Amino acid sequence: MSSDTTTPVRGARTRTARVPTKPHGQWLVDGTEPLNANEEFKAADDGLNVRARIEEVYAAGGFSSIDPTDLHGRFRWWGLYTQRKPGIDGGRTAQLEPHELEDEFFMLRVRVDGGQLTTAQLRVIGEISTAYARDTADLTDRQNIQLHWVRIEDVPEIWRRLEGVGLSTTEACGDVPRVVLGSPVAGIAADELIDPTPQIREIADRFIGDPTLANLPRKYKTAITGHPSQDVVHEINDCGFVAVEHPELGIGYDLWVGGALAAVPRLGERLGAFVAPERVADVWHGVTQIFRDYGYRRLRNKARLKFLLADWGPERFREVLETEYLDEPLPDGPPAPRPQGQGDHVGVHRQRDGRFYVGAAPLVGRVSGTTLTGLADLAEQHGSGRIRTTPYQKLLVLDVPEERVPSLVVGLDALGLSARPSLFRRGTIACTGIEFCKLAIVETKVNAAEAIRALEERLGALEPEIGRPITLHVNGCPNSCARIQVADIGLKGQLVTIDGAQVPGYQVHLGGGLAGVDREEAGLGRTVRGLKVPADGIADYAERVIRRYLADRADGE
Ligand code: SF4
Repeated sequence: MSSDTTTPVRGARTRTARVPTKPHGQWLVDGTEPLNANEEFKAADDGLNVRARIEEVYAAGGFSSIDPTDLHGRFRWWGLYTQRKPGIDGGRTAQLEPHELEDEFFMLRVRVDGGQLTTAQLRVIGEISTAYARDTADLTDRQNIQLHWVRIEDVPEIWRRLEGVGLSTTEACGDVPRVVLGSPVAGIAADELIDPTPQIREIADRFIGDPTLANLPRKYKTAITGHPSQDVVHEINDCGFVAVEHPELGIGYDLWVGGALAAVPRLGERLGAFVAPERVADVWHGVTQIFRDYGYRRLRNKARLKFLLADWGPERFREVLETEYLDEPLPDGPPAPRPQGQGDHVGVHRQRDGRFYVGAAPLVGRVSGTTLTGLADLAEQHGSGRIRTTPYQKLLVLDVPEERVPSLVVGLDALGLSARPSLFRRGTIACTGIEFCKLAIVETKVNAAEAIRALEERLGALEPEIGRPITLHVNGCPNSCARIQVADIGLKGQLVTIDGAQVPGYQVHLGGGLAGVDREEAGLGRTVRGLKVPADGIADYAERVIRRYLADRADGE
């Protein structure tokens, strides 16, 4: 894919020389010679191989025995990141070397494909948290559960316990296929078009931990839903499958590729192809191999699949997929279906088998090991053996008999998991932030939780008028782990100048959103230049926006 640039040659009036631009580092075009330090360490040794060293060397030798390239590179392939040293304020994030910000403890990410957990699995995560992670646990907006304060010495035992109940941290981070997002109501919703669980399982079983896919140019995110609310934020995933009904071929999936946020956000695009359920895993494999083989590897900040899609366009992408990676072409699909209904699944809902599922909102995804263990007990006491996590940092308890629902709701409240949350609590998510993240400039979860409480107090009486959750997404740095560009109000952590002083705060993005019940299609929010919010000013700002929205909105908006 190298292109030529025409540049004048000195001394020649009419001649031009064609100077090739630098290669993008696409394996199938430019060769596999590593072009930067990240590519070098990945080529030198498969990230998956670090597991043996953790079990055989580092767990016994302690933090100081860890090879730095493993520590800062390959550990991610098993869901491990060093966490931020406490007490370093956000103003110093950019001034210090990464190792100066780094603690000897780890964040451990447990992948939960499709967000599907049994209560036995949830209990094990809770028990690991209390035994080895200082009772920490965060529900992420990718349906994972993250623990903190983990010591390398304890990691083998944690894996043993997780794997004993069918969970893992395999490829939870790193340049690999990350957790597969799945509809939290897969297999239970009365209005579901198709249960995507078999497709999620097949992808996870066949390809997670596959060494041939363990060196991708960057992270690679997947989302699959069979629910009409399109509840898996597929527009911002590298590869998405959204249920659709084909007039002749029945129910299958609409294929999306190339979505991702971060500093250069881009919404995914439809390839216009219909994927029958039995072909999903092979099509996913084809898209993933395109990324591996043609993805850009020279510059890390240009390596996500979205950049390749931007250059190729959906037609060429589909042609390469069909001609080079699939046994036969894909049929054309019908037009994209419009999302129906609210996709966060909070509240009490009847399942198609007559039982109920109850969606509950912790505060900004923060729970604890004790809470997770308590939730497993509570669910079982109410006849349920299944829990789901959601891409909105929420939790669902499935299969509850109707007569047990009121008691479950009361029990959830007692655990700090509200099934009747305010619109503000329901619509707010926050990334890890400065408490644990080495890249963070500002606190997120505590500030967002305080903002929720303040908004409940100040605007609670206006909730009927507001009518729907106002999405407030809070990030601790310019990355977009909390999806700031697709929120009504997105707050990006950075240093801001307030009264002449540089302090940690937030840059405001306004008006983004994913397609949904009140929005025809996804759109990226607008950066409001010059509009900065101090770290303790979230509630004041959100209140002003919401009051203004109520005063100025058009009829029916
Ligand atoms: Fe860390 Fe930034 Fe991601 Fe927040 S958005 S978790 S601060 S990298």
